[in-house]
Order: sequence, then C-alpha cells, then structure tokens
Amino acid sequence: MLKVGNKKLLVKSKYVVYKCNAKKIVNTLDKKYSYADMKSDLKKLKEAYGSILKVEVAGKSLDKRNLYYVTLGKETAKKTVYVETSIHAREYMNTKFMMKVIEEYCRGYDTKKYQGKNYSTIFNKVKLVIMPMVNPDGVTISQYGPKKIRDINLRQNLYKIAKGASFKEWKANARGVDINRNFAEGFGRESAKAPGQKLYAGKKAVSEPETKAQIAIVKKVKPNVVICYHQAGEVMYHRKHTKLSNMLYSMTKYTHVISEPTAYGTFSDYLDARNIYNCTLETGKVPAPVKNIEFKKIYKLNRYVLVAVAKMYS
Ligand SMILES: [Zn+2]
Repeated sequence: MLKVGNKKLLVKSKYVVYKCNAKKIVNTLDKKYSYADMKSDLKKLKEAYGSILKVEVAGKSLDKRNLYYVTLGKETAKKTVYVETSIHAREYMNTKFMMKVIEEYCRGYDTKKYQGKNYSTIFNKVKLVIMPMVNPDGVTISQYGPKKIRDINLRQNLYKIAKGASFKEWKANARGVDINRNFAEGFGRESAKAPGQKLYAGKKAVSEPETKAQIAIVKKVKPNVVICYHQAGEVMYHRKHTKLSNMLYSMTKYTHVISEPTAYGTFSDYLDARNIYNCTLETGKVPAPVKNIEFKKIYKLNRYVLVAVAKMYS
C-alpha cells in the first residue's frame, strides 16, 4: 500500500514501480472551465490529496465568488513560489491548465521525479502557492456575459460601462476595473478614462477585492519568486535575464522580452517595488480568449514549469 494524499493505493513495488491509479478529476476537454467547475474540482482535489494540498479563500469578489488559493507541498516549507492565473478575465484557459498541473503534481507527489529529484523532496522544501482564478467575476463575464452576474446593480452597470465592447474579450472585473492596473505602484498611468472592458485602473489604488487578496497572500507567504500566467502571444516578460528566465525560455521557447521598468499599477510593479523576482508567461497564440485547440500545446510546454522553478529554489 502507498499513501498518496488521503488515498491509500495498491502499488506494484518490486524494484519501485509505483502506479498511481487515483481517478482523474480535472476535465481538460471542458471548453470553458468555469468558476463552478474549478470550485467543484478544488473540493475533489482536497478530498483526494488533503495531506499535501490545502485549499483556502483569500476574500470574495464583488459578486461574492470565492477567491481561492491552494498550497501544494509542505506548508512549513522554508521557500515559496507564488503563482497567479486569470487576473485578466478572457485568459481563463490558464485556469484549466493550472488546475491540471495542480492535479498532476498531487498525483505524482510520492511517485514522480523531475530531473532525478522526487516531487515530494522538492515540494517539501519549496511549496507552491497558487491562485488559479484571481478574477472569477471577470471570467464569468467573458464566458457567459453579464447575465451570469448575480448582483442586479453590477449586472445592469456592466451593460452601461461596456459601451458596446465585446464581453467575450472582457479583461476587467465586475465593475470594469482592470485588476492588473489597480496596484499602487504607478497607479493611474496610462489608465483608460472610464470603467470598461480593459485598462481602467479604478477610482483609487487597491480599491478592488481581487487586488487586496493578491497583496494579502504575498504578505502572508512572502514568496521567493512569483510566476504570473497571462494570455496570449507566447511571450515571456521579465526585468532582467536570470538563471530562472533562461530556464523558462529553454522550456517554453516563448519570446524573451525585457520589460521597461516603468510602473503602471500592475502586479509585477507591486512585486518589483518589493524586490520579489517575477516572471510573466503569456501562453498561446493571440488573440485571447485563446482557441481551445491550443490547450494541448500550452500544457505540454508549461506542465513542468512550476516543479522546475521549485527545484531551482530547493
Ligand atoms: Zn493578461
């Protein structure tokens, strides 16, 4: 018998041939992969792998959806990699990708190796803290339109502020604030003039619950490095070349772009101001929402990114 998370598994162990037969949970054929899908899968993952996966809530969105984050690995691990996904609504395919990665790392926790090192050894030293859907209201708007926003005031306001812009390509949250422009560092620079589909920084810095949740997690877990997943363009943004960025390039072959150190209220600007090294990966070919046919390639190029980053810090 082998214990994987909370599950006891029968294992053929002559000369260490482990076979993880835990049932698969995340359905990658699901085209939209909604907030409800993620919520239900997080519950199942917690039931299956509760000893290595913690699911917590960092706050609630304006339309009262939970801002979930998970801790994968040993909670008391000295080092932490923080990962954020879907801060921009229309980039929701990354949530499905991230949920699959979480599941696969849990499934392989006691059995798999990355470049000769056991997952358990890596994640016992360096834990992953992941927020798989930073902007659940926005994702809901991009997938289903404002009709799925429950609060009548938010819903009616959305039709007003959209000014005819497409909801499918929505990036902002439920009141038209781009969370990735709402941080204090460079707040308001190059902001859209009014709330809407994208690029509006908000009435004041850190006004949105999703922004507050990100800051609260960073303060709590004090990450050594942060990976921000966005879409699209197959590009990688960071401030300088490092061993880490070179490794990510060798894995993904995404175009390397050194971004200018001009702050304009992004999460990266917040992290840079605190000397927390961060790297942004833009998965898939433009435009977002990325076509579902690209999922396989995105998964293939990025499935080992987080375990590789954790190993580098271990
Ligand atoms: Zn983005």
